[in-house]
Amino acid sequence: MKQEPKIGFVSLGCPKALVDSEQILTQLRAEGYGVAPTYAAADLVVVNTCGFIDAAVTESLDAIGEALAENGKVIVTGCLGAKGSVVRDLHPSVLAVTGPHACQEVLAAVHTHLPRPHDPFLDLLPPQGIKLTPRHYAYLKISEGCNHRCSFCIIPQLRGDLVSRPVGDVLREAETLARAGVKELLIVSQDTGAYGADVRYRTGFWNGRPLKTHLTPLAAALGELGVWVRLHYVYPYPHVDELIPLMAEGKLLPYLDVPLQHASPPILKAMKRPANTGNTLERIRRWRERCPDLTLRSTFIVGFPGETAADFERLLAFLAEAELDRVGCFSYSPVAGAAANRLADPVPEEIRQERRARLMELQATISAARLRRKIGRTVTVLVDAIDTGGTAIARSAADAPEVDGVVAIERGGAFAAGEFVDVRIVDTDEHDLYAEPL
Ligand code: SF4
Repeated sequence: MKQEPKIGFVSLGCPKALVDSEQILTQLRAEGYGVAPTYAAADLVVVNTCGFIDAAVTESLDAIGEALAENGKVIVTGCLGAKGSVVRDLHPSVLAVTGPHACQEVLAAVHTHLPRPHDPFLDLLPPQGIKLTPRHYAYLKISEGCNHRCSFCIIPQLRGDLVSRPVGDVLREAETLARAGVKELLIVSQDTGAYGADVRYRTGFWNGRPLKTHLTPLAAALGELGVWVRLHYVYPYPHVDELIPLMAEGKLLPYLDVPLQHASPPILKAMKRPANTGNTLERIRRWRERCPDLTLRSTFIVGFPGETAADFERLLAFLAEAELDRVGCFSYSPVAGAAANRLADPVPEEIRQERRARLMELQATISAARLRRKIGRTVTVLVDAIDTGGTAIARSAADAPEVDGVVAIERGGAFAAGEFVDVRIVDTDEHDLYAEPL
């Protein structure tokens, strides 16, 4: 029998890029290409790159260099591909370079350099496509691009303005995933709250039912599928308030990942973000009143150009009052092409680092205190894996994969990945919970 042509795949970057990788792999598999686990076994390698910060650019360029050295036939896609001639300048021998979200262009390049097999094994393709995440959770991308122009960010330059997927397509994909055994859907996009704004929230159809292209009805419909639904990257628009009752009723996970970035109005203004911190605190208070189990995750940037000691103290005071559950913090680093690079008063590197350390120290005590309140409670968790010592590694509604902590269940060896189990929380540390089976 003729061997199928094999593609090696290197996927770097954020969950949005991961979804692009999954679409490309799914399509290649549908056409009868195989996926090779090593460079040596591959006939050609696709590298999906990230171009967000300088460290990611270096990692991507290194990955391309390695693939060229080990295999020789390399196609580059992803955010770095959209940054002009960066890839070709360093690696002129790559076969093709495309930007992000360019599944069809990548396939065309693969067809040119490794002709598609004659007899596609369509029936070998699982209906939910090829997933790079464990089988029981999946990222679901609802839109591409962003209409904001945050001054530190070049994503709109790389990925363009907001383009929402038709609501029926999103729900059909979600249904297929749920039918294939996925237990948790992670809703991602650059700006999840803006879903539908580009098409003026037009009405679409799902199973013959009219449905607006808008986050609230989409979230409510996803909540009918009987799987966990977790929302990421939700910019705090007013209509985000409408999601909280759905969380309180158990239709969505009571979890909101809201990137706030700062709390001092002059810095938010320089970042081109909404500058209404008092309002944000009041909204958080109301959200928690309506849904006491709500977990709030956010990210912040410290040391942004022009950030004074007073701006930073204001951010710390906000964090102390908001008592967010999970916080990620970056010290500002200029990204080539970002408008913020032209702002006056850059903050020296050691002050940026020192502020980041102080913020993380404060937040560690807040996060740890919030976790400690869970001791003695019974929670439902989703098992991700069993380690060699027989401890089950699971997550509760409060823990997103890869970014948050885990729930470690001792003597959990009899559980299986993808299983929901009820456990009692017996201990915590700064990030993780420890539990015993009920
Ligand atoms: S909302 Fe997010 S993706 Fe859009 S410009 Fe701002 S940081 Fe970038």
